[in-house]
Amino acid sequence: MAHGLLDIDIVTREVEKDEELQGIIEILKEDPDGKANYQWKAGNLFYKGRLVLSRKSTLIPSLLHTFHDSVLGGHSGFLRTYKRMNGEIHWMGMKNDVKKYVEQCEICQRNKTEALTPAGLLQPLPIPNLILEDWTMDFIEGLPKAGGYDSIMVVVDRLSKMAHFIILKHPFSAKQVAEKFVEEIISKHGIPNSIVTDRDKVFLSHFWKELFTAMGTSLKRSTAFHPQTDGQTERVNRCLETYLRCFCNEQPTKWHRCIPWAELWYNTTFHASAKTTPFQIVYGRPPPPLRFEGKSDDGTK
Ligand SMILES: [Zn+2]
Repeated sequence: MAHGLLDIDIVTREVEKDEELQGIIEILKEDPDGKANYQWKAGNLFYKGRLVLSRKSTLIPSLLHTFHDSVLGGHSGFLRTYKRMNGEIHWMGMKNDVKKYVEQCEICQRNKTEALTPAGLLQPLPIPNLILEDWTMDFIEGLPKAGGYDSIMVVVDRLSKMAHFIILKHPFSAKQVAEKFVEEIISKHGIPNSIVTDRDKVFLSHFWKELFTAMGTSLKRSTAFHPQTDGQTERVNRCLETYLRCFCNEQPTKWHRCIPWAELWYNTTFHASAKTTPFQIVYGRPPPPLRFEGKSDDGTK
């Protein structure tokens, strides 16, 4: 996998050869506020705080690859790919280049279909007050066996949209699901206020009973039951399925290894409705950058 190492020496050399950018740098050297949104700092040019590259930079193909094709880029669509890059780097015409690149991606073309879920027909659920309290839990089943696994439990915080993907083996009982829930969700986020699932009432009441037993308490929680989820997990599921198709088509027996990357990808992806990423909402800071600055140390330069 190509990594996002950005060799500062190369960036600097390419900027020096770029006449358009040199013109801007000249202005800034005379007057630091001479060019709106641009800044000249310690030998590097910045646009709105993002490192500027020459539009002819030789690093662009590998950057596009990292931000779109890698397991971290996740073959996201144009807007999501652009938003991921836009927070870190800039070059003139970047938006168009990203658009063209994503439109021409063969893996995307092969694996993506238009979303057709009639979300409007589903009953909306009340909006939670706090993050990490009210979750949805859903299952993707019938996947080709990989390492013995054939199902994914998809748990999504309804307010922040933070998602956790947990692999399971069929058949799984309410007890096993409760154990996984303790290991993967409660250990990180505490005891939920409510869980919405499309599983039947019997499964859910067993699940809660097992959860209380595990906690050694008879504490009562509102067992929110909704015969149908509000379409949110279905959206997450579709994203995840597309992601797995993009990365695992060639090796269908190894999809389980993609799951941790898929989870990171999903949680660091820009969500148009929230205008930010679930990661930002939960942790109060942007995800760590994909771009690493420094010098190549692998002798390939
Ligand atoms: Zn793609």
